[in-house]
Amino acid sequence: MPDPRQLARKLLPWYDRHGRHDLPWQQDPTPYRVWVSEVMLQQTRVETVIPFFKRFVRRFPDVAALAAASENEVLHLWSGLGYYSRGRNLLAAARQVVAERGGELPDTPEALRALPGIGRSTAGAILALAHGRRAAILDGNVRRVLARYFLVREWPGGSAGAARLWQLAEICTPAKRVADYTQAIMDLGATVCTAREPDCERCPLAPDCGARREGLAALLPARRPVARRRPLRRICMLLVLRDGGDVLLERRASRGIWGGLWSLPEFADRESLLAWCVARLGRAARPERLPVLRRSFTHFDLDIEPWRLRAGAAAGRVEEAGRVWYNGHTPSSIGLPAPVRRLIEGCLHGGEGPGQESSDGKDGPLRRARPRSRRSRPPAVAR
Ligand code: SF4
Repeated sequence: MPDPRQLARKLLPWYDRHGRHDLPWQQDPTPYRVWVSEVMLQQTRVETVIPFFKRFVRRFPDVAALAAASENEVLHLWSGLGYYSRGRNLLAAARQVVAERGGELPDTPEALRALPGIGRSTAGAILALAHGRRAAILDGNVRRVLARYFLVREWPGGSAGAARLWQLAEICTPAKRVADYTQAIMDLGATVCTAREPDCERCPLAPDCGARREGLAALLPARRPVARRRPLRRICMLLVLRDGGDVLLERRASRGIWGGLWSLPEFADRESLLAWCVARLGRAARPERLPVLRRSFTHFDLDIEPWRLRAGAAAGRVEEAGRVWYNGHTPSSIGLPAPVRRLIEGCLHGGEGPGQESSDGKDGPLRRARPRSRRSRPPAVAR
């Protein structure tokens, strides 16, 4: 096995020539900016995060500004990035930091990890990238590089695999140039040792990489030992349209998927949706069914059966507390799940508005629902 203490020595010259040095959070890498970027980068590619990060820190330049924000405003800026609990946790942590520490983020791993949404790797990244402290990280890219280079065959999600990889991550982290090393190993995983097509010819670790030697690069990190099929859930959503491009929205509960965002009225099945339409608008109500869409989350798939109902002059009969009319032609600043926004846009322009692909838990385009047997594994995510 290669000497873990030599990893930084091999990586840093490569990083100096080929690494990424101009990411927005690398300019003025305060603990706050590093924290926001690391939270956004969880499960999400760098290219996707950049515009969200810029907008977010422009509106909330420091912890105090974020702590003073409403959840609605934070979720609005998070719309399209997915995993909305990250935005809610960020806000909760900012409020806690202001209330307990005068707005200054802690600088110990224990205190950082006590904040909502900050785990061991995010705490390590804040300490390494913002403070230059010797602290290990183990995000998806680092996990992949270490598993391949040191030929770790255990599944990283299991206790043995995780313990082994954390042990390696700790040993590999150097005392000097720790911020550069941290960025270097993330960059190598994102640009060279990628999930699908590792480019070993360009890799500075190739001469003594275990996975390359054994021809196992494509098989590491190991998959979960027993594949478990994610459950499939199904819901109905109702697009109630009023003249002028208005769509009826309701605020979702703060927990669960899309928690705290505005969404379409939702029903467990079509019978309850149709019964609601008749109760509100009488037997003349004629909702039209649109094609079912599938959305993939980390732990389940969701089929959305959208229905469209033109309420016309009877629109007042569907209004109630907790619901608002949203104008799809002149959208206001509220947090909407991306699939709902696309449904609204598609509906107002005469179609249902989905694209063809879906990503795991993020607000990528929707795809038409297909039989389960044809569904492939969700794509791996790189930063
Ligand atoms: S040699 Fe190939 S498999 Fe090994 S770390 Fe480099 S890119 Fe990854």
